[in-house]
Amino acid sequence: MVSIELPDGSKRSFDLPPTVAEVAATIGAGLAKAALAGRIGTGADARLVDTSHRIEGDARLAIVTDKDAEGLEILRHSTAHLLAYAVKSLFPEAQVTIGPVIENGFFYDFAYKRPFTPEDLAAIEQKMGELARLDETVSRRVLPRDEAVAWFKSLGEDYKAEIISSIPPGQEVSLYREGAFEDLCRGPHVPSTGRLKHFKLMKVAGAYWRGDHNNEMLQRIYGTAWATKDELQQYLHRLEEAEKRDHRRLGRELDLFHLDEHAPGLVFWHPKGWTVWQQVEQYMRAVYRDNGYLEVKGPQILDKGLWEKTGHWDKYRENMFTTESEKRDYALKPMNCPGHILIFKQGIKSYRDLPLRYGEFGQCHRNEPTGGLHGIMRVRGFTQDDGHIFCTEEQILEECVAYTALLRRVYADFGFSEIIYKVATRPDARIGSDAIWDKAEQALSESLRRSGCDFKLSPGEGAFYGPKIEYTLKDAIGREWQCGTMQVDFSMAGLLGAEYVAETGERRTPVMLHRAIVGSLERFIGILIEQHAGALPAWLAPHQVVVASITEEHAPYAASVAKMLQKQGVRVATDLRNEKIGYKIREHSVQKVPYILVVGGKEQADGTVAVRARGNQDLGVMQLEGFVAKLSQDLASRR
Ligand SMILES: [Zn+2]
Ligand SMILES: [Zn+2]
Repeated sequence: MVSIELPDGSKRSFDLPPTVAEVAATIGAGLAKAALAGRIGTGADARLVDTSHRIEGDARLAIVTDKDAEGLEILRHSTAHLLAYAVKSLFPEAQVTIGPVIENGFFYDFAYKRPFTPEDLAAIEQKMGELARLDETVSRRVLPRDEAVAWFKSLGEDYKAEIISSIPPGQEVSLYREGAFEDLCRGPHVPSTGRLKHFKLMKVAGAYWRGDHNNEMLQRIYGTAWATKDELQQYLHRLEEAEKRDHRRLGRELDLFHLDEHAPGLVFWHPKGWTVWQQVEQYMRAVYRDNGYLEVKGPQILDKGLWEKTGHWDKYRENMFTTESEKRDYALKPMNCPGHILIFKQGIKSYRDLPLRYGEFGQCHRNEPTGGLHGIMRVRGFTQDDGHIFCTEEQILEECVAYTALLRRVYADFGFSEIIYKVATRPDARIGSDAIWDKAEQALSESLRRSGCDFKLSPGEGAFYGPKIEYTLKDAIGREWQCGTMQVDFSMAGLLGAEYVAETGERRTPVMLHRAIVGSLERFIGILIEQHAGALPAWLAPHQVVVASITEEHAPYAASVAKMLQKQGVRVATDLRNEKIGYKIREHSVQKVPYILVVGGKEQADGTVAVRARGNQDLGVMQLEGFVAKLSQDLASRR
């Protein structure tokens, strides 16, 4: 007798050990049809098995369907096998290697004599559809390692043989077969290929065998797979939207910045892009000023000895740019924190000075591999809205509450309303007593509760020197960007000898809170460009207004309108060219200018302007003062 306990706590008894599929059938025909796999056990001991797996003893079992994250992973994984099956059917000489699941899909690496073409990709995708429709049963068998090596060698699959050879001898490996194709796989797998319906091949790229550029180049085919047709289409739509919003393309089209081979990963800001940058900086500067931060500025290059004390020289050296002078080694700062501690250490600080908040637009350099760089989002040189709060343990809570409120206001002003909160707690390797960690973790969680924020815990994800809150914003097309952090640090201030005189007269080490709201300004501006698809809100737009004359005759009036606006602090440009007005309007619309003011003879005679707002909205003719009032209203509402 085998007793199976289901997730709802109910139990079912079987005279003989049942398969997962048989258990599912006793629950309902719908579930039996939807079953992709089974999860035996719970928590850390849970393991996934095929629906054909026979359960030999009493167990807890959950039926996994495509509604579960695990189910989707099985679908994607199984689609990778289907891809390999199709490639082997069309290109029998191709050798299979590995095919893992990745975010939103999967890839599979093949050794083939030439790169696959877009036409190949279309043929492979079509073949996958055919093979799926055959609805072939997927079956599993287990072989001793050496037999599996010999088997794959006999098939001419040298890479598979090499992978299996690296498994310790004496072990067994499992193989999964669908039709004529058999692959090494831990499983589980969908029960039959007919379950794979909603997939698409995305692209092909070169990839080195085992990621080593000394090895041969393989052909990596990327694909995506989803549980439903709708989800697949939504995903493809999201990609299309992301492509349209790509900040690298918009940065070029709107003449905001460029990147250059002479400085990989470092941004050349053009006048319009730098205007946006300054708007963000000035806004954040006001945030510092109005919330009790003192703005400071530390040096760019600091002695190696300092980085040795903080541990960077030891652990982080290859990510730092270094230089030397008069036989001393230096590093370009990868972070601003030590500089702020050195400023804190000047003069004696007392408990009355705490909390002491420093803010800096700190320019940092990190020697990232060029392969990982991405537009202005992942760069080697960036500026953080970096702040450090020196405080007592008791002050952590209040500081975190104030910081969270501030962050929410800032994000809302930039047009983001959805924020995801996570508290990352103590890792195994850490410094500081459990009592201090308890206090700090509680303070972080409590601060979010008081702020009315739902949050999740990321157990063990804190830094070795303290827990943190991560603030992730969601953009207009549902993508998530982690920007803000509030990080408690029990360590660094002490390492560099910072202390304050407590009320009792004894010297104590302050707690240091590292915090940033937008994070890297470069990355944040990239996010803003993509969030707004280049149509930045008027308060951020490089040119808020363009005044365009209908004919050259009205150029002086257009210029005087622009001058008046400029006096009021409006960022304004003129277009006095001898071009058709329709052409001018089109051009500035493409440049996503928030307001275009058209002036001709009638406007000149009446002292008015004809206003066109972005998105081809004709707001009609207004007195100049009327337009200024409208613009200030727009700016005041920010979003
Ligand atoms: Zn597999
Ligand atoms: Zn810091």
